[in-house]
Amino acid sequence: MSQAFSLCVYCGSRGPAQFEGVARQVGTWIGQNGGQLVYGGGNNGLMGTLADATLAAGGKVIGVIPRALVEKEYAKRDCTELHIVENMHDRKRMMAERADAFLALPGGIGTLEEFFEVWTWRQLGYHDKPIGLLDWGGYYSHLRAFLRTGVEQGFMGDWLMDLIRVETDPEVLLPALAEASRLAVRQSALSQI
Ligand code: AMP
Repeated sequence: MSQAFSLCVYCGSRGPAQFEGVARQVGTWIGQNGGQLVYGGGNNGLMGTLADATLAAGGKVIGVIPRALVEKEYAKRDCTELHIVENMHDRKRMMAERADAFLALPGGIGTLEEFFEVWTWRQLGYHDKPIGLLDWGGYYSHLRAFLRTGVEQGFMGDWLMDLIRVETDPEVLLPALAEASRLAVRQSALSQI
């Protein structure tokens, strides 16, 4: 890989114990594969576990956090790069621009919002970067069923589902995203958002 694979990961700012292992596994994979993590810059929950694991495995960590959340989300000062930005929109744009691919791990409404946003941006043609959803332990099984309902009832085209890759095993999903990002045509119009 000539340039480090840069993966933007969205995940919970809370860290239920049953999901800590997979956050660590994802961070370790990024570090061991010479990659770079782009994330929300917080130190709590799965976000903190993921960033610590990436650093421990020798990976770079780019944290991007709005000024107003520096205290609340315990900004991670030992990131390789910590960017304190003016607002949530700047955060999301910078995270998207610095990434080659996106991955959502289990999380709450912040995670869901970010995942759906990059998916809709892809649908609209603002970027062409691969997007993964890790359905670890079946956490997203009801969401997946609901999305199928959306297709069946005619609100969403089948092709939308082809824009995301859903897997239950990070060891399958992570290499797939890295490979897909290598093949993706770099046509970013994120600056227009
Ligand atoms: P959560 O999944 O709710 O634990 O949140 C995970 C991360 O998403 C946190 O760093 C939140 O700051 C972030 N977040 C919450 N709301 C939004 C939003 N509207 N846009 C982008 N990120 C958000």
